[in-house]
Amino acid sequence: MRSRPTAILDVDLDALAANYALLVRIAAPANVAGVVKADAYGLGAAQVARRLAWEGCGSFFVANAAEGVALRPHVPEATIYSLGGLPPGASADCVNHDLVPVLNSVEDVRSWLAEAPGRPAAIQLDTGMTRAGLDAGDLDRLAVEGVPLERLSLVLVLTHFACADEPAHPLNARQVEVFDRLRRRLPAAATSIANSAGTLLGPGYRGDLVRTGIALYGGRPAAAGPNPMREVVRLRARVLQLRDVDDDVTVGYGATHRVRAPARIAIVGAGYADGYPRSLGGRGHASVAGRHVPVIGRVSMDVVTLDVTSVPRDELRVGDWVSLLGGGVPIDALAEAAGTIAYELLTRIGPRVERRYAGAVDGAAFPRTSTD
Ligand SMILES: *Cc1c(COP(=O)(O)O)cnc(C)c1O
Repeated sequence: MRSRPTAILDVDLDALAANYALLVRIAAPANVAGVVKADAYGLGAAQVARRLAWEGCGSFFVANAAEGVALRPHVPEATIYSLGGLPPGASADCVNHDLVPVLNSVEDVRSWLAEAPGRPAAIQLDTGMTRAGLDAGDLDRLAVEGVPLERLSLVLVLTHFACADEPAHPLNARQVEVFDRLRRRLPAAATSIANSAGTLLGPGYRGDLVRTGIALYGGRPAAAGPNPMREVVRLRARVLQLRDVDDDVTVGYGATHRVRAPARIAIVGAGYADGYPRSLGGRGHASVAGRHVPVIGRVSMDVVTLDVTSVPRDELRVGDWVSLLGGGVPIDALAEAAGTIAYELLTRIGPRVERRYAGAVDGAAFPRTSTD
């Protein structure tokens, strides 16, 4: 018999579809692209992109050409943009797998014109993030060096916000101003400005295509306030052992936590190797049989320890599941307790954790009934 998994990441594709539909309503008339870099933030790029394509999503963004090559067979009709520019070898991948590279530098523009003349490309403008993209000085250089921009088949001009999750931050409006000024120096093309948080800033902040990642996956798009997105992800782990504490003891490495008897503790089967942050030792909470219980002691590589004294004995047995993330443990609150953000929590869920999908991946795999 195959041994049972001790940790599972449940991905609710119907909730993903609902989040996509909400973003489509908010962003209209702009279109909504799915950002599926880093294996769709750890959820599984193939399943996520196929479901989004089935829901009508026609554009996807990946981090680099290798991710685009892997994604292509799953969404044969879609436009796939590769955010990472053109490091050596990327041009050939983009040409051979019909990816649209996002050109991030003068060198990228030159390479694409030389290696793939006439093929569609996107350009990223750096308007205040100071990361990837061309700034005013780079556009000057292109002009001085006589790079024939008119030969570029430019399909999208984009920029990226630095502070979109803080709606009142003055940099947001300034970046849009700079973007409008710089893009006039390029051939006319559709525009893309906003990530998830930017999409909620208002119509002036979106352009023609918004690039949504974290909101699709259920993270709160803004730094504060209620989360309008549906929960998509749940990390659950099995109770491996229950212990009754009859005398005061310390728990785990470093003996950092003292348990006062009488108490009951549960050892559950996910640890920092599975992406449950070590920083949650003594700070995290899990949901056990509908109750909020604390993580005690240090998080180990393979297990965490919970104080389940508050859970009635007959409601928790060895082999039962508890929720470590989602399922009563909101992702943004957990990220804050861990001193990080939802993006990092999701992308660090380890390969040992089995992914399980609820809801159809797409029409081909699971025919829908007319009542869907
Ligand atoms: C990751 C990324 C996004 C998606 O951001 P979210 O905040 O997850 O919506 C959009 N644009 C670029 C350039 C990115 O790198």
